This record gives sequence, C-alpha cells and structure tokens, in this order.
Amino acid sequence: MQINEHFLPVNPEELDGQPDFVYVNGDAYVDHPSFGAAIISRVLEAHGFTVAMLCQPDWRTTDDFKRFGKPRLGFLVSAGNIDSMVAHYTAAKKRRSEDYYSPGCRAGLRPDRATIVYCNRIREAWGDIPILIGGLEASLRRFAHYDYWQDAVRRSVLVDSRADILMYGMGERSVVRLAELLAKGVPVKKIRDVRGTAYLAKPGDKIAFDCAEGFDEDGQPNGYTYEELKSDKRAYADAFRIQYYNNDAIRGKAIVEYYDEKMLVVNPPQPPLEREELDEVYALPYARTYHPMYEKDGGVPAIKEVRFSITHNRGCFGGCNFCAIAFHQGRAVRSRSIESCVEEGRLLASLPDFKGYIHDVGGPTANFRAPACEKQLKSGVCPGRRCLFPKPCPNLRADHSEYVRLLEELEAIPGVKKVFIRSGIRFDYLLEDPSDEFFRKLVRDHVSGQLKVAPEHCAPNALTRMGKPPVEVYDRFREKFFALSAECGKEQYLVPYLMSSHPGCTMDDAARLAVYLKRSKLSPEQVQDFYPTPGTASTVMYYTGLDPFTAREVYAVTDYREKQLQRALLQWFKPENRRLIREAMAYCTPAGVRDLEELLGGSPGIHDPERVRSAKENDSRGQKKPASDRRDTDRSSESGRGRQQKPASDRRDADRSSESGRGRQQKPRDGAAARCKTAPSRGKNAANRSASDGGKNSFDNEKNNRGRGKYAPGSGRNDDKRGKYTPDGGTNGGKNRKKR
Ligand code: SF4
Repeated sequence: MQINEHFLPVNPEELDGQPDFVYVNGDAYVDHPSFGAAIISRVLEAHGFTVAMLCQPDWRTTDDFKRFGKPRLGFLVSAGNIDSMVAHYTAAKKRRSEDYYSPGCRAGLRPDRATIVYCNRIREAWGDIPILIGGLEASLRRFAHYDYWQDAVRRSVLVDSRADILMYGMGERSVVRLAELLAKGVPVKKIRDVRGTAYLAKPGDKIAFDCAEGFDEDGQPNGYTYEELKSDKRAYADAFRIQYYNNDAIRGKAIVEYYDEKMLVVNPPQPPLEREELDEVYALPYARTYHPMYEKDGGVPAIKEVRFSITHNRGCFGGCNFCAIAFHQGRAVRSRSIESCVEEGRLLASLPDFKGYIHDVGGPTANFRAPACEKQLKSGVCPGRRCLFPKPCPNLRADHSEYVRLLEELEAIPGVKKVFIRSGIRFDYLLEDPSDEFFRKLVRDHVSGQLKVAPEHCAPNALTRMGKPPVEVYDRFREKFFALSAECGKEQYLVPYLMSSHPGCTMDDAARLAVYLKRSKLSPEQVQDFYPTPGTASTVMYYTGLDPFTAREVYAVTDYREKQLQRALLQWFKPENRRLIREAMAYCTPAGVRDLEELLGGSPGIHDPERVRSAKENDSRGQKKPASDRRDTDRSSESGRGRQQKPASDRRDADRSSESGRGRQQKPRDGAAARCKTAPSRGKNAANRSASDGGKNSFDNEKNNRGRGKYAPGSGRNDDKRGKYTPDGGTNGGKNRKKR
C-alpha cells in the first residue's frame, strides 16, 4: 500500500492524448477511498483505462464538458458522495449554506439534481456519446421514487437524465465490465446483461434475467407503469417491497417499470466484493487527500474526518428503515482482511500529520465483520425476515473476536497511540455476543470520551416503524456501558442519536420520549428530524402512509408544525420550548398530556383547560385536526406492527441520508445529573457524523443554551396537508402490479 504522488488528470495538459473516460463529479476531487469517485477512477486506472476528472464543472454552459475533448469510451457521471438534494437542503427544505464536499465548504458549486443536469450538458456538447451514471444519487433513484423536495413521485433518474446505463450499488465490478465491453466495441445500447446496472429498452425486448414479477402470456415482463406508481400509493409501496426484497445478489431478480414507450430494466445486483477483492480495492494507490488546486480555498473539509480513519467493512444487516444502506450496499456484509487494514494503519502512521490517533475503524456499522449467518452465503439474505429485528434471528452469528484482533493489531503499530471507534455500534448485536470481550475492550480502549449510539426513540410505535430494537435493549447496553466504564475508572459518556417525527411516531410518542429523556437525565443538544430521502422504507411510509412490508397503515407526520412540536419536545429543557410543549398538548391523548405536564414540572397554569382549548383553537385555524381526534384510526393502523422486514446507515453512509442533529448524554455514574457536552453534528454524511464536538455547553448552564437549537422558521414550502393516512386505504392491495 502506498501513497500516490499523482492525482488523475484534471486538465487536458496532463493527458497524453484522448482519455478513455471523463468522470464528471459533483464533489471536489478527493483521491481517498472514502470517496466513490476515487475508488471507481482508480479501479479503472488499475484495469488499464485512462480517466480524466471533471469535478464540479460549471453546468451553466457546455464549455467545461468539452475541456478534455471527446472521450474514447464515454462519460461517467456522479452527483458526488451524497444525493445533491440532501447536500443542498435541510430536512426543513431550507438551503444549506455550507457544502463539506466542496473547497472551502463553499455551497453552490453543484446543481440541484446534479446527475440529470450534467447528463443534459454532455448530450448538448457531444450528442449520442455513451453516458454511464452512478454514485448514491443515481443508485437510490434508479426506480420511480418519491422526491421529498418536489413532493411527487419522479421517474427513474435514468429516464430523466437520458443516460445510457445506470450503475447502482457498489460499482467496481459493473464499471470494469462496462468499460471492457465498450473497449471491445460493443455499442452501449446493446449492453443489457451486466448485473448491478439498469437500462431502457422497448417493451417487447427480451431481458437477460428472470423477472421478479414474472412474465405475461406473451413473454412480456410484468411490472408497474409509472402512471400507476405516481397515482396509486399502494402500488408504490408494493413496488418498493419488491425492489427491496430483490436487492440481493443470490436471490434477486430483474425488475421492470414502464414509461410510455419505454421499459426500464433494473438487472439483479452484483455480488458483493469478497475479502480479497476488497483488499485489492483498498490497496490501490490513492493520494489520500484533496487535489492541491483546492489549497488556496483551504482544502475540502470532508477529508478531515476520514483522513485517519479505516473502512473495514461494507453492507449492513442492521435493518433500520430510515437508512438507505441496504438499498445501496445491500445487507450482505463483507470485510477486509486484518492484514489489509493493518497495512493501511501503517500507512496512516507514516503520514507527516499523523498525531498517533486512528479516528475510526468502521463502516456502515462498525461492529459487523461477517455475513449475519452461514445460510445466507448459499441462499441469500432472507426477503421476509430481518437479522436483528424485532429480535435477533436464531441463525445470527454474533461474534466480535475478529474485530477485537483487528483493533489489537492496529494498536500495536508503532506510532499509534490510540484507536477510536466513531462509526455507529449496533448495540443489540453487541449484546448478542456471548462473550463480552469486545464490549470491555470498546469501553476501555476505543471511546474518545463519548460514544455515539443510536437508540433513536423509546416509544414502541416509533421503534417498530424504524426497525430498531425496544428501548429496554438500549437500557441494558447503557447500564453495562457505565458499569464497565466505572470498572476501568473512566468517566465517559454516551451520545444517543434521537429522531423526531419518524413515521409511526405520534405526539404521544414524542411526549413519552421526552419523559424518558427527562427521567434518564438526558438533555439532547441536537435531535434529528426525520428526513424522507430516496431509497428508504421510512420514506415510503412518509409518502404513502403504508408500511411497504406489511401494507398496513402507518401514522406519518407531514404537517410542518406538528414536526416542529415533536422536535421541540425532545428538547423540553429549553426555556423557549415551554410554550411549544403546551401547544403540543392539543395533539395528545390524556396520557400524552400527563407526560407533557411532567415535563413542565408543575408550572403554574399549565393544567389550565383554557390554555389547552385555546391552543387547540389556534391550531384548528387553517391547520389540521389534533392527533387526539385521530387516535382511533391511528390505533387500528398500528395493529400488527412489529412484523416488518428490513433495510439499513449514511451513513453511512455515507448514507444515513440524514440531516444534522444528534443527542448528547448524561454523566454516567450513579445516575447523577447530566453534565452535558455539546453533541457532535449528526451530519449530512458519514464524515460529519463522526465529527467530534469539544463543546462545553451544559444543560445546567442555560445561558449557554439560549439561542441555540431554534427551529427553522417555517418556510411554508413543506406545510403540506397531505394525508396522514392512505387516502384510499385498501383499494387495490397491489393487485395491479402486473403491467404494461
Ligand atoms: S434473517 Fe436470519 S437467516 Fe435470514 S439472513 Fe438474517 S440471520 Fe440469516
């Protein structure tokens, strides 16, 4: 493993003739294996292809797209490490002022819906040249999808971009195969049998794989039409279920969608890279930093959190519904060898700015190193079951011994003082391990003062819809964490990640969480409001009001004010939120009101029925009915919960696809009052999520808290009153799936 002195060409002068590919990227150029563009371009280079990097081109004209001339084989296009709309807008649809993937954190260097915009410019400049799109934005928008920012179901990005082929998931295998076929002279329109890709065909064309929904009597693959998907929420939820269950290399089949005279064909996924292949990808010579052309702007901030971190795994069988990892990387976990990670550790230790600390040894979930069970190696991941939810599957192998060895070997590298774990730990998996060797080691050696974990909520309604374990599991973890910390004489903290307004979560549930936090002496400085990003089951619930795996109705908060109130309850301790707590009472049942009263701690007048009534009246003026009026429907819709199947994290992805905002935690010992630290930002991406905080704000010090954590002023743009329940609940039951 070595550091590359050279970046790939960013100017025509650095090229020796015509490049094979021009890689158009919505992010600044960072040649580090935490960045998809770096991996794909270096993999192609290793296979003998030349790649010119066109990063953050000016999309207003075609000039930049002509900079390298016409590439021999085609253009590769990616919006960047995260979806361009997530990069540009908060969960409240407010424009972000910073962009961690741009030089100097400068916003505005990438267009909204970057994949589409870049492809259009390429077509204008070069006409009918092969365009292959990939990256997270293309991957998660490969099917017709609900777009939160437009509040509508959009067509597959392949249709809107007019690209030739879409690569989804982790693209190494696909891109090499496509490059080889193009190099052999196969016309791009004829390439139809590469796994992990999607293309547009004419209805009636043969497809290369079995179809998930079978074929009709004429041999035509069955699938939904776009018209159905955008007008029928049950059809949309059902389509997601089919897509999700088929995102497995062993049992997955092709899926088609019909768009007027076109048929979108999404081939089954590529198998995950096995250990030796992953080792090879990470052993490629990366420069491991941003291109020097950004030095004048102060560099690219996204490198900071990953420069001294090691990614040891891919995939996630965690199954959180709000996370897109399962839909992108898949549920089959694979990991690098210990030797490969240690070699990277040595390389990090040799860098001049290395201070002795490896910041993270993680991935989508830090403590997964192997597939969930033996069985899935032969049969694929179970479509109708989850590995950890609602309870750990009996076939699950919970074993941290190899991860412990990896950590020990990294610690033994000369120059390494400390190895931290900052990626999310899946605590329910950790507790399943019959040995507590890893737990002890984690607490003793790998926590940098505070450990971030993600209970997300405490109310069963919310947790069930999230695909998270019951809060009692978190409580067990928490107790043991503090007990082990005390055993080794350490005062360290847990930072619980919490999410408000997730589908399934009523105002009563938010009140219950607030009381849980109060009783547990937790005072989250930041919380995340649910952000309906493409490719997650939770987004389907938000849009359709249906659980895509059970077709049961789910309560989904879409009203902006109600979202604000739920969020405010989680920060009940802020003086400015007391008014909102009173307002929230109007949305609660009597049980919820009692919880909120407990939060207010008996302040004079809070039980005054007049206040509650007046809050209700205010709310009913031009707003929706309080939740208390909807309870019966809601309860019936929740019956039978706890039977979902799975998807998975941002984070990690890089893509937990989440907005900023996380919790912080209390002083661990003997349940004493919280001594707060400012929480690290939950971040728009993995890099941000692992940012350390160093803040000094304390719950006890209200002065410090004043003015922080205010709600985003209502823009009105997302004050929509869309149905909280499926409008036509039970209309077709997904029966009109067969189509064209
Ligand atoms: S649900 Fe159980 S059997 Fe199925 S893949 Fe997960 S661990 Fe294996």
